[in-house]
Amino acid sequence: MDNEKIVFVGQYPESQQKSSLLESSGIPCRTNAALHSGLMNAVSLNSIGPAEVLVPVEYYDQAVQILSIDLQSINTQGDWICSKCKEEVEGHFDLCWNCQNPR
Ligand SMILES: [Zn+2]
Repeated sequence: MDNEKIVFVGQYPESQQKSSLLESSGIPCRTNAALHSGLMNAVSLNSIGPAEVLVPVEYYDQAVQILSIDLQSINTQGDWICSKCKEEVEGHFDLCWNCQNPR
């Protein structure tokens, strides 16, 4: 299909979450099991594997934007910005790695 573009490839249920996120944002999309010849057999077709999320080309930019916002919110979960030096510190640290300022 050349009128669809892949916006996300990932394991179930993440691929499922992405597609429902897009749908709730009004973007028509579908998921497609990412089949790699030689890796998949009849059994693994039914099991949980990587899936592609596809959207129509005209929705591609919008979809990428929605997904990148979503990814940012995941990545920043737990991470914090040092109030002193403005460096980003990973969530499992209680002190800034740069200036030792507490969270
Ligand atoms: Zn700091």
